[in-house]
Amino acid sequence: MDFESFFQGKLEDLHEEGRYRVFADLERHAGQFPRATRYFEGEKRDVSIWCSNDYLGMGQNKNVMDAMKNAIDAHGAGAGGTRNISGTNHTHVLLEEELADLHGKEAALLFTSGYVSNWASLTTLASMLPNCVVFSDADNHASMIEGIRHSKAEKRIFKHNDWKDLDEKLSKVDPDCAKLVAFESVYSMDGDIAPIKEICEIAKKHGALTYLDEVHAVGLYGPRGGGIAEERGLMDQIDIIEGTLGKAFGVMGGYITGTAKLCDFIRSYASGFIFTTALPPALAAGAIASIQHLKESNWERMQQRKNVAKVRKGLEKAGIPYMKNDSHIIPVMVGDAKKAKFLSDYLLDKYNIYVQPINYPTVAKGTERLRITPSPLHTQEDIDHLVTSLSELWSQCALARQVA
Ligand SMILES: *Cc1c(COP(=O)(O)O)cnc(C)c1O
Repeated sequence: MDFESFFQGKLEDLHEEGRYRVFADLERHAGQFPRATRYFEGEKRDVSIWCSNDYLGMGQNKNVMDAMKNAIDAHGAGAGGTRNISGTNHTHVLLEEELADLHGKEAALLFTSGYVSNWASLTTLASMLPNCVVFSDADNHASMIEGIRHSKAEKRIFKHNDWKDLDEKLSKVDPDCAKLVAFESVYSMDGDIAPIKEICEIAKKHGALTYLDEVHAVGLYGPRGGGIAEERGLMDQIDIIEGTLGKAFGVMGGYITGTAKLCDFIRSYASGFIFTTALPPALAAGAIASIQHLKESNWERMQQRKNVAKVRKGLEKAGIPYMKNDSHIIPVMVGDAKKAKFLSDYLLDKYNIYVQPINYPTVAKGTERLRITPSPLHTQEDIDHLVTSLSELWSQCALARQVA
């Protein structure tokens, strides 16, 4: 077989559909977020980033950076092994205590990323619980879908955020089967928020275990950054809360929290936890500093919310259509893969604004978009520049405006 031409053919398919991914080659500058340098065809350009998942700019927070630097000086670069074989550093233990406290749970378990935490935990639960049937929200993240698929457990997909559909689907399953309901709080592409209370009530009625991905909410919602479940006073209603240290916390890593027995069970059986080198202690130290900072400080959350409101207002005035939601995510709807890519390229080349286009399979075909995530550190000038640039582009491309 001619492997090279096979690869080339597959890549050409993506180009034709306008969904070949091109990474922006960025150099972030600590202290200057959301500004960065972009390397492109041998040249350097200043850009302002409008699509970062470092939602609060914690990646350049001084406490976080100091904690990481100090931890390297004190403990060295790497963890030294898997958690089981010499890799458990005291910093990991402290971070797990910090996370359990954040979500009001008995225990927490660290993974190398949020993706791995979902994949490993759901695989282990769904494959080991007796006759497990998994109820998965239709819009769940790839990491959950892959974990459930890998478990080979039976799966029922319920309509997005639809607890009535979930109730109906749960009713149809043998009461003796173990049941697991997996969903997210803030869905990152539409920015809509799950009816957590209703879903938990339904799950409880049917004796199902609940698994909530709060990746796009931790650090951002709740008085201590515990997520939507904290904000709504529902943390104790959920069996397993999963999160990332890589988005609002600005570092890297993933975790689950739950009862001590549940975490011990995953710790003891999950291949994706056991057979991989533990996070460097410096990452764990940075994460602790970030979590502690956001447990105390509301400034980042308040300032972010103000900026989100300002961007929305600007877009409304300019008649640029965006999807309404109750979160910090602003999806500007384009509805065509090639157009979304073109707008993004043009914003970057002509206006030094970086917003990555979001295309299929991340979102459904026909709902392609620019996903804007204002941070606490964007200035009024940044916001005005974004809105004016989008407005000019909308005219140039004769895109439909929405009359307020
Ligand atoms: C990004 C993301 C993850 C994965 O988290 P990482 O720490 O980036 O691996 C999991 N769930 C959702 C909903 C995400 O958007």
